[in-house]
Amino acid sequence: MTESPQKKPGKKRAPRTLGPEKTEKIFAALAHDRPDPKTELEYTSPFTLLVAVALSAQATDVGVNKATRKLFAIADTPEKMLALGEEGVAEHIKTIGLWRNKAKNVIALSQMLIDEFGGEVPRTREALTRLPGVGRKTANVVMNEVFGEPTIAVDTHIFRVSNRTGLAPGKTPDEVEAGLERVTPPQWKKGAHHWLILHGRYVCKARTPECWRCVIAEWCKYSPKTPDPSKVSSLGPKAPKARK
Ligand code: SF4
Repeated sequence: MTESPQKKPGKKRAPRTLGPEKTEKIFAALAHDRPDPKTELEYTSPFTLLVAVALSAQATDVGVNKATRKLFAIADTPEKMLALGEEGVAEHIKTIGLWRNKAKNVIALSQMLIDEFGGEVPRTREALTRLPGVGRKTANVVMNEVFGEPTIAVDTHIFRVSNRTGLAPGKTPDEVEAGLERVTPPQWKKGAHHWLILHGRYVCKARTPECWRCVIAEWCKYSPKTPDPSKVSSLGPKAPKARK
């Protein structure tokens, strides 16, 4: 779709999106730039991915990987995680934000997987979000990465890129998710989540988007674009600050 439909006076309009042509070009360019996008979280099974994603809230993938390398070496199944116990899990993840609560959730979700799902990670969002500490975002990542579902989990990077570019503007992650669902062409849906995260993490950075080397700058609405610092004279105008 190109624009929101006409609404009656007095009603709020949905934010304008880029339109199908530009949206298609953006995803094609991102796909060309990263032909085989993957999560940067390390995992060896659906269970270890589920735990890694649950631990990654308010933490970096690098920080999570550092902690889980040792944790998963001794506990890569719900049964082994229960045997390790809350204190044992906590010891391994103390370097990650909210570790106390996360250790409690990892044990509780391991117990529920055994009690209600035969020790397997369920495939549906409804079942996944019943697990302690598993919200819609975590469920979407697991469904996409493990089961190949075309879900888009909106994290801070996707939220930023969707708003700056105009792909799917929204005030909340749910709004952005709904917008992306609506505008993303079917052939790009499976990879959209990864392309947008990686683009936000490495190019469209929070503090200063690196527009001068961005493969989608041509279609992005963000303005003014950040100029190439190597071409900005030290006596000339300063690079513009990123909008908040
Ligand atoms: S042009 Fe700049 S703001 Fe737009 S997506 Fe690229 S890096 Fe982000």
